[in-house]
Amino acid sequence: MQEAYLLLGSNQGDRLQWLQQAICMLALLCGNLLQKSSVYETAPWGLEAQPHFLNLALLLETDKSPEALLESLQDIEEMLGRRRAELWGPRTLDIDILTYGNEVMHTEKLTIPHLFLHKRRFALAPLAEIAPNFVHPQLHKTIATLLAECSDPLSVCLYDGFLAR
Ligand code: ADP
Ligand code: MG
Repeated sequence: MQEAYLLLGSNQGDRLQWLQQAICMLALLCGNLLQKSSVYETAPWGLEAQPHFLNLALLLETDKSPEALLESLQDIEEMLGRRRAELWGPRTLDIDILTYGNEVMHTEKLTIPHLFLHKRRFALAPLAEIAPNFVHPQLHKTIATLLAECSDPLSVCLYDGFLAR
């Protein structure tokens, strides 16, 4: 068994509903969900002319290898209506592996820890809520430190879906 931190994101349609469905599918197909952050509303990164995202971070306990986990995550993205169009473009659902145990790996399909984890406030802020003291296995700094040092200017706000809907 390994513990992997995941980041879920959606910026199309009923964003909260996609995240909720993804959480159900993850629990059914991938392992045990041990922790879940709040939902955050975040400004789009990379390709900025698109709707704001909802993001949340999860801790998943899984017996899948990183490659098998990625395949399952992509299956879930597809089942929940994701169409792969442009890189960093709008999507109903995106699931990224932020970390997998303390592994450091870089293959054609998979970079772990996620290549942009330390550069993206939208990933660091939810992760810092559930894992402030987790040490980034490559940068050897805690998530709280990486968040404090992060220069990403894009906004990340706690999302109260009950008020917003
Ligand atoms: P992004 O998440 O960067 O917006 P995609 O979800 O379309 O873009 O992912 C593009 C590719 O990124 C995937 O096909 C996958 O092979 C690769 N990838 C590399 N590292 C990771 C990771 N840690 N988690 C998820 N996907 C990854
Ligand atoms: Mg992705």
